[in-house]
Amino acid sequence: MSGELVCRGCGTRVAFGIAHFRCPNAGDAVDHVLAPKFMPKFMRGRASFPLDGDTQPFVRFRELLYVHRVAGLSDADFVARVRTLDAAVAQVAGKGFETTPFRGSPELGRALGIDELWVKDETGNVAGSHKARHLFGLLLAEPEVDDRRLAIASCGNAALAAAVLAKAAGRTLDAFVPPHADRRVTDELERLGVTLVRCERRTDDPPGDPCFHRMRAAVRAGAVPFTCQGTENALAIDGGQTLGWELIAQNALAGDVPIGTVAIQVGGGALATAVMQAFAVARRIGAIARMPRFFPVQSAGAAPLERAWRRLALDAARAADGVFADDAPASELARFVHRELGTPAVRACIAAAPRDRARYMWAWEAEPQSVASGILDDETYDWFTVVRATLESGGWPLVVSEAVLQRAHGLARDGTGVDVGATGTAGFAGLLDLAAHEGLDAETRTVALFTGRW
Ligand SMILES: [Zn+2]
Repeated sequence: MSGELVCRGCGTRVAFGIAHFRCPNAGDAVDHVLAPKFMPKFMRGRASFPLDGDTQPFVRFRELLYVHRVAGLSDADFVARVRTLDAAVAQVAGKGFETTPFRGSPELGRALGIDELWVKDETGNVAGSHKARHLFGLLLAEPEVDDRRLAIASCGNAALAAAVLAKAAGRTLDAFVPPHADRRVTDELERLGVTLVRCERRTDDPPGDPCFHRMRAAVRAGAVPFTCQGTENALAIDGGQTLGWELIAQNALAGDVPIGTVAIQVGGGALATAVMQAFAVARRIGAIARMPRFFPVQSAGAAPLERAWRRLALDAARAADGVFADDAPASELARFVHRELGTPAVRACIAAAPRDRARYMWAWEAEPQSVASGILDDETYDWFTVVRATLESGGWPLVVSEAVLQRAHGLARDGTGVDVGATGTAGFAGLLDLAAHEGLDAETRTVALFTGRW
């Protein structure tokens, strides 16, 4: 079936439709995530990866995008819809989508002891972060007649991006925010016409983020999940991949040095999922010769992804008769599992994990606190692809302290002059830790993402 979505957890197949952003069976212990079941024509060898070309990412990479396939438009009409919506975004935000900078940063490289640190800078993207990439595709897929309200749970970059895009598309948006959300953000949201719904953490709430629970309730009542979580909206990961493809293309045009290490901050997990998936697609179609090692980065204030990775890595290692203590060093565990990836029991163990989500992923028990407030999600909603891709790459999750997050933020701002927030430099913070404990590969490029101004 054209444009079919398949649930990775339960195997249910649904045709793409705006009512089908979430698996109909979601709500039990299984990790229900709808993912496109399709083979872009690039993967069948009928075209090459667009190393260069249009600076609008949804035009340039459209043939790799699921939304291009399911929007129900001819290629020319799809491009026209992108241009029209992008022009409306520029009216609201002062600029539309364009290729964002990817530069070598010798200054920051010195702090890591390497020459080849490269930074993908998303701070100048629409609404000041990468988040709009995750949301733009949903508006491309939506029938223009749809007048349902959009809903998002966020009080940071994602809400700002959603507000700009909703206004550009003439849609109404409800943002579910915590009571202590940053006034600078909430003022801007209100200026953009967003209805704020303040969500207290109540004692009778189920575990997890109360804003997220109330957003889901709004969706059950008919709102469209305009969110950056792949569990809620199958298109959120799709558009986010443009960030990965863009930097792969930029790297290829910047000399012969391959990317060997990629550090990515993880909150809800959509960014890391999208970037890791983008690399996997690029590898499958021959745009890169090898996969880099991935290092997801979390704050010590909330690290549910690291917890999930460790549980699955231990399960996989023990399936191959590895002897590891529960608190074994992540690097040793990662190296062992990476060596044993060809063992059938290890492969089976990893493949089975989505059917037992509760074993690996649950809400962080304490209310998370960190200077990197944008990655304080109680749960890593999009966890499995990140954990699997990290294991397969030979990397491991890095959990960084507040002191390192702050040091990284200061170094990054002073060293590059970029107006980037502490959330946006969390990946670089992970690299500081990695460089101190392991060292970095000097023969390949190391990549950090500066994800946003907040
Ligand atoms: Zn399902």
